[in-house]
Parts: sequence; structure tokens; C-alpha cells
Amino acid sequence: MTLTLSPSSAAVATIQAGMRPGLFLTGPAEMEPYGRDWTGDHHGVPLAVARPRSTTELADLMARCTAARLPVVPQGGLTGLVGAATAEPDRRELVVSLERMAAVRSINPIDYTMVVEAGCVLDVAKQAAAAADCLLPITFGAQGSCRIGGNVSTNAGGFNVLRYGMTRDLVLGLEVVLPDGRIWNGLRTLRKDNRGYDLKQLFIGAEGTLGIVTAAALKLFPRPARLEVALLGFRSVPDVMAFYAHARRACSDLLSAFELILRPGLEVALRPPASFPDPLSETYPAYVLIELASSGPVDLRALIEDCLAGSDLVADGTIAASQAQAEKLWLYREMMVEHQGHGGRYYRTDVSVPISRIADFLDVALAGLRAAVPEAQPVAYGHVGDGNLHLNVIPPTGLDPAGIVALFGRAQEVIYPLLDRFEGSISAEHGIGRVKRNAFLQGLDPVSRELAEGLKTMLDPLRILSRGRILPALDPAQPEGAREWY
Ligand SMILES: Cc1cc2nc3c(=O)[nH]c(=O)nc-3n(C[C@H](O)[C@H](O)[C@H](O)COP(=O)(O)OP(=O)(O)OC[C@H]3O[C@@H](n4cnc5c(N)ncnc54)[C@H](O)[C@@H]3O)c2cc1C
Repeated sequence: MTLTLSPSSAAVATIQAGMRPGLFLTGPAEMEPYGRDWTGDHHGVPLAVARPRSTTELADLMARCTAARLPVVPQGGLTGLVGAATAEPDRRELVVSLERMAAVRSINPIDYTMVVEAGCVLDVAKQAAAAADCLLPITFGAQGSCRIGGNVSTNAGGFNVLRYGMTRDLVLGLEVVLPDGRIWNGLRTLRKDNRGYDLKQLFIGAEGTLGIVTAAALKLFPRPARLEVALLGFRSVPDVMAFYAHARRACSDLLSAFELILRPGLEVALRPPASFPDPLSETYPAYVLIELASSGPVDLRALIEDCLAGSDLVADGTIAASQAQAEKLWLYREMMVEHQGHGGRYYRTDVSVPISRIADFLDVALAGLRAAVPEAQPVAYGHVGDGNLHLNVIPPTGLDPAGIVALFGRAQEVIYPLLDRFEGSISAEHGIGRVKRNAFLQGLDPVSRELAEGLKTMLDPLRILSRGRILPALDPAQPEGAREWY
């Protein structure tokens, strides 16, 4: 089966003429910000950019795009980094940005729920929840840029998954515009609803391939009034993992973050332009940032001190004495992420393994990388509570672009097969997009592939939506690729 679509400026002009003015951007300069992702690594050139103002306007647009067989890609804050939200480079796709559908529709402090439009920036949604003395617990470095629709569509996790779960665990309902323009209204705030299939689950983590999310009903929690943050040094990753098991229990399950950073990652954080001192008086192979949070009168300081006193696994550590100090400790984590890109492109992964296998996986994977790319600097860190690791590789300075791509390939050849061996996943954060599609499809069993293709065909028979992401486009103009993306 092949499905050839007909992207053309004439089709856009016809659609534009039938709709309310101000929906489209078509000039190269005004479309430029919609053509590259957060890193600048993935570029695209949209045919046009549509910025709908309401669910009904988007539904009308999608019906017209289906009639015109115009390929569409939904876009949030462009922090997904797998080439999913940027258009193809050849002006074939209409980008639909949700940025003008950004309202917080409601917050209910008795239900502990909020209803937010897909274009709302995560940080804005979090602040709105905080203003109602509630917590929206999706928390990670890109929260000032990413949008709720993107979070839903990538099933975002972050620092607090350990305590509150990931986005999938927090979504109570969704409103979705289907590729043919029908609106699926599943925007309920019910905690428990066992009527038939739980259809919203189809759209969570679907990377915009099955429908365009326009609003989400999300679970909230009481806002923590007390926080304790500590940075701890360990002699080994197995010690970290044994301490993790101890700390969950010893902290009365009030742990809200447990972030692992191996020493090379901390050294990246310490690089100029940062002027941080080493956080502890000696250096250690592994560090952990832990956070405890409670909304009520719990003596968290006593809990964390007892937890540390009850274990001989921690070699050294510092507990933040104030909010300002807590923020400083978190800065090591943030600066490590920011500084990795200062020398140019680096190989990123967002993999996962079962939590109990993190230490063994890192041991084997780092040994493999040392052998395969001895000239590069591996940097490993992750959210221990969900087994989600970043095992990144920074190329040596001065390496030319072809050398960088070859190095990325060698690193990937070490890491991906190991994930099979450790029963892990090649994508625990950013999704599959175009970058990981070939690797994903190669590892997919026939029954899963058949079910996935069946869902796609049912909801998007013409494959106009996010084509070539996750599943093949079935378009002769987009042949299946030998091409590997990094
Ligand atoms: C610095 C940094 C730190 C991060 N840390 C974490 C982390 O700790 N844990 C984690 O899980 N992830 C993390 N991420 C990844 C994060 O989950 C995603 O970047 C984010 O959720 C995507 O949101 P976005 O609005 O930027 O979406 P985009 O990048 O714009 O889009 C992502 C995907 O969603 C689709 N999409 C966007 N909006 C919609 C919509 N309304 N309807 C349907 N499809 C849509 C796009 O087509 C694309 O496929 C991090 C990213 C960065 C850059």
C-alpha cells in the first residue's frame, strides 16, 4: 500500500481562503522559529504554520486538510528532540502550533484537578496550580518551554515521577481533534471511570500520530509546604542503589526526587562559565540529589537525618540549610545538562532499564563506550525512581561533522544492543519521532506492529498526521530509510 499526499502552497491558499483570517503564517522569517527544535539539531521547513485559536477552528482546519490530503504535524514547545515536532525539510508539512490555545480553563481544589489547554507552557500551568495551593508535579529542565499537549504526547516524566508518577498517571481526561476533524471529548475529571475502553490512553505518548490534543484534565496534589534537599557522595553505583531502597522506606515514602549523577557529569557542571566549587570536600564516583517534600507538619529534617544515620552507604553529603541553598544544589544538575552542549553536538540517549539493573547496566555500558569511543567523554545521570538514564557521549573538540556522526553511530552500537540484554527501552523520555524510528521498528515484534498499524489506519487512514513518526509514512516520496538519525 502507498499513500501519496499532495502538499502544495495552492492547497494551503485554498484552505486559508475558507477560514477566519490570521490563522496561518507563511513568510519564511515568521515561520523560522517553528522550524528548529530546542537544541537546533533538528531543522525543518514548514509549508505553512497554522495557529488555531479554538478546538472548533482546529477541527475545521483538520477536516479541510484531510479533504486536501495535506500532511500535518502538531507542535508544542519543540523540546522533544527526536525530530517529531519539526516539519520535514522540504516544505511538505503544515505545522499546527497549539501556542494560542494556552488557557487554564479551570482548577478545582476539592477534586484536586485542573483543565488546561494543550498550548499552555508547563511552568505556567504549574504556577496556576500553585496559586490554588496545589501541585502539578510534572517537573523537569524544559518546563519553561514545553507545553501541556507535548507533555501528554510524550508521556513526560521528570524529577518527581518517583512520588507522583509520569504524565500518563496524571491525566484524567483529554479533548482531541482527530485527523478527519472530528472532536473526541473525553475531558472528564472523574477519578474512576470503568465504562468500556480507556480511550485517552491511546493519545498519551502517541507523539501526535493519532490525534491532536487540545486540552487535558490533570491530577493535582496538595502543594508541599516543606522541602529538604541534600547532595550525597557515594563510593559506587551499587551503593547508590542500595541506599535508594533504604531511603524510600526510611523517609516514610516522602522522597520526591532521587537523581543520580556520575562524577564526569558533575565535572561538566563545574566547567566554566559556572563558578561552582566542588560540592563536597572530596570527590566521589557517584552523587545523588535527593528531595523530600510534605504538605503537612512532618519533621522532614529529622527524617532525612535519621535516614542518613541509618545507613553506612553514604560517604559524605550536605543538606541544604535554606531554600536558597537547596536551589544551589539543584543548579549542579541543571548546569550539567546545559554545559554538555557548549562544545557543540553530543550524542544523547534517554534510555531506561529496570531499577534494580541500573548499576550493572551502567557498568557494562560505560566499559563498552570506553572501548568503542575512547576519544569521547561519556556522561551518565538519571532519574533513579523510574530507571530513566541519560548515557550521553561528548565528542572530542575539533572533530569534524562526519567524524561526529561516525562516533555517534559507534556509541549507539554499544548502547542499543545492551538495552535488549537488560530488558530496557531506547526511549524513556523523548519518544521515537523520526530519529529512533528505524531502531524502534527493528525491535518491534510482529503482533505489536500489527496492532500499532491497525490503530493508525483506524484513526488516520490517509496518514496525514505526523507521518513517518513512529510508523512509516507509506509514501514513495518518503522511502523507508537506511538513514540513521542522531
Ligand atoms: C532540557 C530537557 C529536559 C527534559 N527532561 C525530561 C525528563 O526529565 N523527563 C521526560 O520524560 N522528558 C524530559 N524531556 C523531554 C520532554 O518530555 C519533552 O521535551 C516534552 O514533554 C515535549 O513537550 P513539547 O511541548 O516541547 O513538545 P514538542 O517537542 O513540540 O512535541 C513533542 C511531540 O509531541 C507532539 N505534540 C506536541 N503537541 C501536541 C499536541 N497538542 N497534540 C498531539 N501531539 C502533540 C509533537 O508532534 C511531537 O511528536 C526533557 C527535554 C529537555 C529539552
